[in-house]
Amino acid sequence: MTREHVSWRDRYPTEVTCVRCLEVHDQMELDRMLWCDTCRRKARARAAWWGWLGGLLFTAGMGVYVWFTVRPTDLVVGGWMATMIAAIWIGQKVAREFAYGGMRFRNARAVEALPLKAPSSEATTAEDDSL
Ligand SMILES: [Zn+2]
Repeated sequence: MTREHVSWRDRYPTEVTCVRCLEVHDQMELDRMLWCDTCRRKARARAAWWGWLGGLLFTAGMGVYVWFTVRPTDLVVGGWMATMIAAIWIGQKVAREFAYGGMRFRNARAVEALPLKAPSSEATTAEDDSL
């Protein structure tokens, strides 16, 4: 007796609707949360923008702290500049992951997603009127 490998994909039919763009895709293109490859890529790109914003805000806050609390001398300006660049880079990475995690947690459909069209009832009502 062989035990079949059970996958989460077994629960779904071969074609599944992506919960983000509402388009029907082959099951293999979707991940566990039923997001298609394109949606994941778009969400990553969108999260990257939030990441840069978060990184800049974090660095601005750190700059204020360094300027008023640490009071840097002009002896190691290059060192402080490198610290700021590192803060932007690291802050950007952390904020991006938080933004992407937030999108995954909300699991809402994308802004550009079009709702599924219901079977056109206009054609049948027009026929009914003519009868
Ligand atoms: Zn999608």
